[in-house]
Amino acid sequence: MSDIPRALVVGAGLAGSLMTTMLARRGWKVDLVERRGDLRLSSGSAGRSINLALSTRGITALERVGLAVNVLEETIPMHGRMMHDHRGQLTFQPYGQSGQAIQSVSRRGLNELLLNIAEQQANVSVSFDLRCTDVDIDAPTAHFINRDGEPVVKKADLLIGCDGIFSTVRGRMMKTDRFDYEQRYLAHGYKELSVLPGVDGEFQLEPEALHIWPRGDFMLIALPNLDRSFTCTLFHAYGGDDGFDNLQSDEQVLDFFRRHFPDVLPVMPNLLEDWRANPVSSLATIQCAPFHHGDTTVLIGDSAHAVVPFYGQGMNAAFESASIFDQILAEHGNDLSAALPAFTRQRKADADAIRQLALDNFLEMRDHVADPEFLRRSAIEKRIQRASASPYLPLYSMVTFSNLPYAETIRRSRVQSRWLDERLAAASQSEVDETSEAFIALLLKEPPPVFDSLS
Ligand SMILES: Cc1cc2nc3c(=O)[nH]c(=O)nc-3n(C[C@H](O)[C@H](O)[C@H](O)COP(=O)(O)OP(=O)(O)OC[C@H]3O[C@@H](n4cnc5c(N)ncnc54)[C@H](O)[C@@H]3O)c2cc1C
Repeated sequence: MSDIPRALVVGAGLAGSLMTTMLARRGWKVDLVERRGDLRLSSGSAGRSINLALSTRGITALERVGLAVNVLEETIPMHGRMMHDHRGQLTFQPYGQSGQAIQSVSRRGLNELLLNIAEQQANVSVSFDLRCTDVDIDAPTAHFINRDGEPVVKKADLLIGCDGIFSTVRGRMMKTDRFDYEQRYLAHGYKELSVLPGVDGEFQLEPEALHIWPRGDFMLIALPNLDRSFTCTLFHAYGGDDGFDNLQSDEQVLDFFRRHFPDVLPVMPNLLEDWRANPVSSLATIQCAPFHHGDTTVLIGDSAHAVVPFYGQGMNAAFESASIFDQILAEHGNDLSAALPAFTRQRKADADAIRQLALDNFLEMRDHVADPEFLRRSAIEKRIQRASASPYLPLYSMVTFSNLPYAETIRRSRVQSRWLDERLAAASQSEVDETSEAFIALLLKEPPPVFDSLS
């Protein structure tokens, strides 16, 4: 390795720009290379979904480089889910305890900020309009094509693939012996729509909530933006009578919305315009292993573990991976032959866990959140959590408002669930009113499981 270690980061999206800052602050010389033009010089939506939910794991990673405060200044807190039923009746379900919220943040704004900070670091060079076409993961070197079609080759001590779900770096790793890989598409895709500010310039829906219209097999969601609009996303199957493939004419689209989302139509006069302008995009998950090759190459973010967006964790997991990798490098004094395998060992089970959690949460968001039994149990869980001295943390809180390893959240949730089943069965033998404090006290007669502190 050179006197000053050199990293070549492919992809200046969310993970790549944060990873660059982390490495530069550790004294690395970093070459950050992006296929697209500099998004700070253009308008548009910076790729997929216009806004994202940022939560504890992402915030913790940003704190590592002192950026959390800057980012949080540009977010809107969403304290819970605002459910819209078929008749437009609203029900609010808080996400966590009082004061806890997930944060709606603009993808473009966040990416711009991360790029600005990366560029301000000593020893960082950022290049745009260079598409990586191939890599040599042993050398390691990467081959790029610039806008004029000319080849460019870059070399470093460490090659980092932050090039997203269809990673070129991973593509080359897939050709090595014993590399595991699985890509799965959902039968559902998504289309982005919007609720613009009203004529008074104000939000047309409650701003501090994530709005959901759960409809069984499909759903519409809306997240607030600082300009007082909402970005809405319709998650829906491609096939079927009402599927995306069959919603072609204006009348079919309007009819679909009249039947399923009647309360949205009045605040979406621009529906048909958005519908025509925005494509249906696919949703896929990626699982692979290992996340590294020898002591030369590593994958960080969606390139290693792309997940479906239903837990709002893809970016959070990508930031967490960057932060964990940075920490591992520090622990191993930049010894790549130790740090890279340690990263795969530490992160693989958690990546698999959030993949499954995100898939399961699709069912929860589009269907269970409207199921009275699910709502009853969630409400009881929150009351147990609020009860003083109770160590109970619902799964959603562990995933969203803690830094517990994802795999550990699943393990704890299973143990807690068994405890709750037993306590609810015992309490059902009593006459105590379920809405009373006495009911929670009765459940807590047998204390919830206590776990070691892990974070
Ligand atoms: C609809 C939707 C909603 C989502 N909502 C949330 C949410 O609420 N919360 C959340 O945490 N996550 C969410 N996600 C997930 C989140 O978008 C991703 O997990 C996150 O963008 C991953 O960051 P990344 O940097 O790894 O990849 P990306 O953001 O995809 O960045 C990869 C970068 O690499 C560049 N690149 C690709 N190929 C090359 C190449 N050959 N050469 C050079 N550069 C290249 C790309 O141009 C891009 O800039 C959502 C995803 C979708 C699709």
